Amino acid sequence: MGFQLTEEQKLMQQMVRNFAEEVIKKRAAEIDETDEFPMDIYKQAAELGLLAVNMPEEFGGSGMDSMSAVLASIEVARASASVANIFSSTRHHLFCLYNYGTEEQKRKYIPALAKAELIGSFALSEAGSGSDASSISTTAKLDGDEYVIDGNKMWITMGNVADFTIVFAVTDPTKGSKGISAFIVEKGTPGFSVGKRERKLGQKGNPVCELLFENVRVPKSNMLGEEGQGIKIALQSLDSGRIEVAALAVGLMQAALEDSVNYAENRKQFGQKISNFQMIQSMIAEMATDLDAATLLTYRAAYLKDQGKKFTREASMAKWFATEAAMKHTTNAVQIHGGYGYCMDYNVERYFRDAKLTQIFEGTNQIQQIVICREVLKQWAK
Ligand SMILES: Cc1cc2nc3c(=O)[nH]c(=O)nc-3n(C[C@H](O)[C@H](O)[C@H](O)COP(=O)(O)OP(=O)(O)OC[C@H]3O[C@@H](n4cnc5c(N)ncnc54)[C@H](O)[C@@H]3O)c2cc1C
Repeated sequence: MGFQLTEEQKLMQQMVRNFAEEVIKKRAAEIDETDEFPMDIYKQAAELGLLAVNMPEEFGGSGMDSMSAVLASIEVARASASVANIFSSTRHHLFCLYNYGTEEQKRKYIPALAKAELIGSFALSEAGSGSDASSISTTAKLDGDEYVIDGNKMWITMGNVADFTIVFAVTDPTKGSKGISAFIVEKGTPGFSVGKRERKLGQKGNPVCELLFENVRVPKSNMLGEEGQGIKIALQSLDSGRIEVAALAVGLMQAALEDSVNYAENRKQFGQKISNFQMIQSMIAEMATDLDAATLLTYRAAYLKDQGKKFTREASMAKWFATEAAMKHTTNAVQIHGGYGYCMDYNVERYFRDAKLTQIFEGTNQIQQIVICREVLKQWAK
């Protein structure tokens, strides 16, 4: 396995770095402060081909691979993890549509998502159903040629700015997780509305809210995939999403390391640079080592995905390791900055707040450990 980047990937990485440095980084603190969805940046990203990096060109994508999407996510997360999360959420929706959509659904939604003419969301979680995704209570009952959807979804990223959502609902309660199906529901469909917006610790500017479904009627043709495929769609897209969350954590760690080194080299105490102190050096050494390890795990998962190989275990390993490391080292970055690190004049407190989410969403890190162990037991049990 080699991780030599292609010329095309290097060019894309540089292009995203420039965009992140010149546009996103300068706005990151403001987005954090105002908590407003950065629509202008989102549209610029679409123009640069950053939303549909790994979608085929015939659907308006950039025709690149998952490794390229990872490289893009890392660069954006270095500037703003919240903005990186917005872009990678869109790739999550694209994944579902591309892999399970009918030709008509693909033609309708994928090019429009790539161009930011439409925004999507992914509605699986509910107030009573998080890690145990198959325990959802939202239902979709067939009535003639239509399904009638009833229930409430919670924590839906970009739910209030989205033009449509991919919602998961029980179509056959007798079949357990195999009785769940996915549907596309467009904004404006009677009975479909946006509920409460959550006030979050970090990743501001990336809204999360409730979606309410009350007698929402959609034609049968709005089903995504086949009846009963809902959990398969959700879990497969979460596998891919985990690689992007790992990339997000890597970008956060890069930013934390750069800011920590810069601060430690300039801050003086006891008549010398604090980077001379071995306890500061220890934190920086561990940060740099974990950053490399997390990067390699993330690249490996993306590489396997691009090779068409199974990557469930590797995606969970990357997500778990990278996000635990990001939490630890963004905390240490605050420590290295002392009292200044606790204030909003420096970026490290934002990294620290933004890192926490990476341990929770796309499957908590406890769930990643369950997935890894399950895969390891499958592989090694005699
Ligand atoms: C900012 C944000 C954005 C989100 N975006 C979306 C979105 O766009 N779409 C969507 O559908 N969902 C979204 N989610 C929901 C997210 O996927 C869930 O929060 C996550 O899956 C965890 O579910 P929960 O919050 O209900 O926690 P729970 O599942 O209740 O877990 C609580 C605690 O118990 C632990 N736990 C649970 N089960 C086990 C077990 N078997 N073994 C050991 N420990 C366990 C968990 O790890 C956690 O520590 C988002 C969440 C947040 C916070």
